[in-house]
Amino acid sequence: MSSTRPSPALCESPAHTVLQDVFGYEQFRGPQQAIVEHVIGGGDALVLMPTGGGKSLCYQVPAIVRQQQGRGVTIVISPLIALMHDQVGALHEAGVEAAFLNSTLSYDEAQDVELRLQTGAITLLYAAPERLNTPRFLGLLDDLYQQGVLSLFAIDEAHCVSQWGHDFRPEYRALTVLHQRYAGVPRIALTATADDLTRADIIERLQLEDARLFISSFDRPNIRYHIEEKKDVTTQLLRFIEREHAGEAGVVYCQSRKRVEELAATLCDAGLTALPYHAGLDTKVRQHNQDRFLREEGIVMVATIAFGMGIDKPDVRFVAHVDMPKNIEGYYQETGRAGRDGLNADAWMAYGLNDVVNQRRMIDESPAGEEFKQALRGKLDALLALAEATDCRRVRLLAYFGERSTPCGNCDNCISPPAVWDGTDAARKLLSTIYRVHAASGLTFGTGHIMDIVRGKDTEKVQQFGHDKLSTFGVGRDYSEAQLRGVLRQLLATGAVGLHKVMLESGHSFDTLSLTEGSRPVLKGEMPVQLRESTASTTPKRTRTRKSTGSAPPAAAANLGPDAQARFINLKSWRAEVAREHNLPAYVIFHDATLAAIAERNPATLDDLQGISGMGAKKLDAYGAEVLRVCAQ
Ligand code: ADP
Ligand code: ZN
Repeated sequence: MSSTRPSPALCESPAHTVLQDVFGYEQFRGPQQAIVEHVIGGGDALVLMPTGGGKSLCYQVPAIVRQQQGRGVTIVISPLIALMHDQVGALHEAGVEAAFLNSTLSYDEAQDVELRLQTGAITLLYAAPERLNTPRFLGLLDDLYQQGVLSLFAIDEAHCVSQWGHDFRPEYRALTVLHQRYAGVPRIALTATADDLTRADIIERLQLEDARLFISSFDRPNIRYHIEEKKDVTTQLLRFIEREHAGEAGVVYCQSRKRVEELAATLCDAGLTALPYHAGLDTKVRQHNQDRFLREEGIVMVATIAFGMGIDKPDVRFVAHVDMPKNIEGYYQETGRAGRDGLNADAWMAYGLNDVVNQRRMIDESPAGEEFKQALRGKLDALLALAEATDCRRVRLLAYFGERSTPCGNCDNCISPPAVWDGTDAARKLLSTIYRVHAASGLTFGTGHIMDIVRGKDTEKVQQFGHDKLSTFGVGRDYSEAQLRGVLRQLLATGAVGLHKVMLESGHSFDTLSLTEGSRPVLKGEMPVQLRESTASTTPKRTRTRKSTGSAPPAAAANLGPDAQARFINLKSWRAEVAREHNLPAYVIFHDATLAAIAERNPATLDDLQGISGMGAKKLDAYGAEVLRVCAQ
C-alpha cells in the first residue's frame, strides 16, 4: 500500500476499497459513506444532496460492492436519456460493466444488452422510466428477480415524480411497480430538489415511507455569488466573462427563446464560442449543441431553463443569469451547475426593475388560482430580497432552505460590503405621486411617468395631463433616475406598490403602478426603506490573480508553476485526443483537477501516479504509461 493512502482502518471496508480502486478517490464526501453503507446493507434511502454533491457515487459504489457479493445487477432509472451514453462511458473508463436501455438503441443493440443482462455481465443498467411500462423489460426483471440477482434500484432525479417541480414526468408515477413487484430489493432515490413539499411528495408517490432520509447541507462553498443591477446587461456580461472566465465553459440563462438566440449571436460576435439551447430548437440541433458543450472546452451555452437537468459536466466555471429567475429554488438549481468539480466557480446575475415587472405580470396573467399566485409572488419576493440584500448572500440562500450559517467571505457582499442609502424619503415621494395622479384623474401610470413627475421633468405627457401642477412635481429633483428605479424595485418587491394592467384600444396593454395595503406604513414613514448603492460599476475584483490578456489559466491549474503549466497543457491536448477516439467528453477520461495534480507531481514512474485523485486502477492501467510519456515531453 502506498504512503498516500489514508489509515488502514478506513481501507478495510469494501466500499472504501471500491472508492479508491475504481474511482481513484481517497475519501467519501459528506454523507456519502453513511448512505453507501446503508444501501449496501440493503436499506432503502432517500438522498437530498445539492447538485455537485456527489450523488452518483451513492448508488454506484453500492452497485459494485453488491455485485461483488453476488447480488447481481443494479437498475438505474433516469429520465436523462441524452446523457446515458456518457454516464455509461464514464463507468467503462473506470472499468465497471455498465449499459443502458433506451429508445436510442437499435433492436440488435438492445438485444445484446438484454443478453448481457441475463448472463450477469452487467453491474449497472441505466434505463428510462418508460421502459417499466413495457412487458418485455418487466419480464427481464422478473427473471432476474426470481434468480435472486436483482440487486438494487436507483431512482435518479426523483423529484420528477412530483408535480411541484418543473420536471414532472408522468412515467415516474409508474415506479411504484418496483416496490410492489420486487419486494425486498432495496431502493435509493436521489434528488437535488430541497423543498419540503417536493420531498413529501417523493416519499408518498414512491412509497418510501420506510426509507432512511439523508439530507446534506445545501451549501456550495466553492461557488461565489454575485448579483448586480442591470444597466447594459450584454456589456456587463461580456465584461464579466472576459475578466473572469475567458476561455472557460459557462452557462448563461435567459428567460425567452428569442433572447437566447440574440445573446448567443452577440457573444459569438464578441469572439466567444457561444451556442443557443432552448426547447424550440430542432431536437438534432439541441442535441448537437449539448454534445459540443460537453465535449469541447470553453463553450458558453446560452439557454433557457430547458437546459441543464442532469448536465454533469464538472468544469462549468460560471453560471450567469441575464434575466431574473422565478424563485430561489430555480436560481439555486441553475447556479448549482457551476463548479461541480469543487474548484472555484461563479454564479453571476444581473437584474432590474423590468425583471420584477415582467415576473409579476406573468404571475398575474397565469390561469392559476389566487392562492397559488400568492405563493408564487411570495417566492418571487424572496428572490428579490436576495438580490437587494446588503448582507451575505449565502447566509440568506441557506436560510431559505432552512440552514443556519455565518457570513461566508465568498460572495460579493462579503468581499466588498455595499454602501447603503436611506431611500425612505424617496419612497414616500414616489408613493404620494402615485396617489395624487390617481386622485386627480382616476388614471394610473407607468414607472417612467411617475419618476418624471417626481424628478420634475417637463415632458409632453406631463403637459398633456397637467401633472406639473401636482404638489409632488419636482419634489425629488435631487434623486437620479437609477436611485428612483431602485426604490421602486424594492417597493414592488415588498408589495408596497402594486401593478395595475391598462388595456389600450390597440389591444396592447401596459403595466401601471398603484397603491396597496402595504403602501401605508411606508407613506407614514413607519417602515424605513434601505437600499444598496448601485453596484453595476463596482464589480468586486476577484482575489484570485488573473492575467488580463484574456488567456487566464483555468481554475484547476491556477496555482501551477510554469513547468507544471506546460505539462498541464500537454496533458489536456493528449486528453482531448483520447476523448475524441472514445467518443466521450474529456472530463470522463480525467478531470482538470486530476490533470493538474499529475502536472504538479511530474511523475517519472507508474508508482508516482498512485494516489492522485481521480486515478483509479483501470485508468492507471489504461493510461498510466501514456501519461508518463506526455509528462516527459
Ligand atoms: P451530483 O450528481 O450530486 O450533482 P456527481 O455525482 O456528478 O454529483 O458528482 C460531482 C463531481 O464530484 C463528480 O465529478 C464526481 O466525480 C466528484 N466526486 C463525487 N464524490 C467524490 C469524492 N468522494 N471524492 C472526489 N470527488 C468526488
Ligand atoms: Zn457571503
